[in-house]
Amino acid sequence: MISLNIYPNYKSPQFKAGYPKNLVISDIRDIPGLTCARCGEKMLSRPEFNDYIKKFVVGASTALKSPIFDRIRSSKAFQMIEEIAKAHPRTPVSKLISEKLETDAFEETESDKIRQFVIEESDKMCKKSPQTLDLLERIKSGLSEKKQEMLKYMALYASKYPDKTFAEIFALSEVSKTLQQAEECEKFVYDNNIADFFDQVAKLTEGNESAEKIKNVTLDAIMVAMSMHFPAETKQIYIKFKFDNLYKEIDDKALTEKLNILVQDMPYLEFSPFASLNKYCNECDDMKIVNDFVEEASATWDHIIPSSKGGSYSTENGTCMHKHCNKARATIPYYAINEVDPNFIKNIQKQMNRIMGYITHGILITKDRLPQQVNETLKYISYGKMRLNIRNFLKNEQKIIDQKVQEKKENLTNAETILDSIRDEIQKRHDEIYRLQAEIKKLKEENDVFFVEKANIMEEVNKARQEYNSAVTERTCLSRDIEKNKS
Ligand SMILES: [Zn+2]
Repeated sequence: MISLNIYPNYKSPQFKAGYPKNLVISDIRDIPGLTCARCGEKMLSRPEFNDYIKKFVVGASTALKSPIFDRIRSSKAFQMIEEIAKAHPRTPVSKLISEKLETDAFEETESDKIRQFVIEESDKMCKKSPQTLDLLERIKSGLSEKKQEMLKYMALYASKYPDKTFAEIFALSEVSKTLQQAEECEKFVYDNNIADFFDQVAKLTEGNESAEKIKNVTLDAIMVAMSMHFPAETKQIYIKFKFDNLYKEIDDKALTEKLNILVQDMPYLEFSPFASLNKYCNECDDMKIVNDFVEEASATWDHIIPSSKGGSYSTENGTCMHKHCNKARATIPYYAINEVDPNFIKNIQKQMNRIMGYITHGILITKDRLPQQVNETLKYISYGKMRLNIRNFLKNEQKIIDQKVQEKKENLTNAETILDSIRDEIQKRHDEIYRLQAEIKKLKEENDVFFVEKANIMEEVNKARQEYNSAVTERTCLSRDIEKNKS
C-alpha cells in the first residue's frame, strides 16, 4: 500500500509543531494531530473535521453571502430562500430549493427567474470532482484501505469528467451500469472460491469423528468471511481464534495441521470498491460523499473493554481511533489484536505520548491521571502483557508536584512570618491595654480619696458658714441694741 505524506497541504497555523498556546482542551478527540491507537496514522480532531467539511461543500449560508446576489438581495423570492437556508446552512442551495420550495409560493415568473439564477450561481460555487478529489487526497493516510481504493477509481472519473461534481458523475447511467456489472462479476468469482474452500474442508475431514464440529466452525467462519461489515484483517483475527480453539479439541494433530493450511488460504470477501461507489449513484450531493470520507479519518473514542462487555464510559477505558479503525476493531479484545499485530501497543504508546505531552504542558485539563489509568486497564485485560511506558511522564509529574509543594511551602513560611509579626503586635497592644487599665484603676482610687476629702471639706465649710451666720446674727442683734441705747 502506497502511503502518502500526511496532510501535505493542510495548514492550520495554530496547530504547527510544538504545543499550541492559549488553548485549553478537555476532550482527547480535540487534540490536533493525534495518531490513531490502532493504525498509528494521524486522525482529524473534531475542530479540524469541522474546518475540513466547510472547505468541501459550499453550503447555502456561505453561497448566499456571495456579492453576486447583491442586486436581488432585497427581492421577496431571495429572502424566502435565505429564510429556509437559516435552518439548513450547510446544504447546497440547489438541493435546498428542490426539496423545500418545490411546491411553495414560486408562482410569479419573476420569482422563478430569481430562483433559477440562485441555483445556477451557487452550483458554480460547488467544487468540481478534481477539486474535491484533491482535498480528499490530503486525508488519504487516515482513510481505510477500502476508501483509498475507492479514491483510485474516483480519480479516474475525475479525469474523465473534470467539469462535473461527483454527485453528477455517479448520476450518469453509463457509470452506474459499469459499477453494477463489476460488482456482480466480483461476487460471482468469490462465490466459486468459497464453495471450493468448503468442499476441500469437507473432503479433508470426511469420516473423521470431529467432522461435524469442524463443519460447524467452518460454516461460522464462512459467514464471517463473507460479511461486508469488517475488513479482512478483522475477519482473519476472529477466524484464527475460532479455529485455534477448535484445534485444542481435536486429537488428530496431522488433520489439524492440514486444516490450518486450508484455513490460512481461506478466501475473504474483500471489500468491493465497485459496490461502495455504486451506492453513491443515489446520492444527489457531494456533501454526503465527502462526509463519508472525512468522517472515517476523524477521531472517535474506542472502549478498551467494550460497553457491551461491561466496560465503563470513562476515560480510563478509552483510546482514540479513526472511525473506520474503531469499526474494524469491533469488540475483538485488545490482547487478541496485540498477539497478531505487534505494532498495536506501539501505536497506543505513540498516541499516549502526545496526550502525556498535552497534560504536561497544561493544555489538556483534568486528565492528569489518564495515562496511569489506561495503563492499568491495558495490563488488566492482557494479564500484564500490554504495558505502556509512562515512567518519564510520572517522573515529570513528580517534578511538577515537587515544585508545587516547594512553592506552597514557601508561601506557608511567608504566611507564618507575617502571622508571627501580627502576633507580636497583638501582644504589644495587650500589654499596653493592661498598663492603661492599671493606670485607670489607680486614678479611680485617687479619685475616691479626693471624694472623701471633698466631703470632709464641705462639712467644714458648712460648719464655718453656720458659725459665720450666727456671728452675723449676733452682730446684728448687738448693733440693734447699740442703736436702742443711743436713743
Ligand atoms: Zn486508524
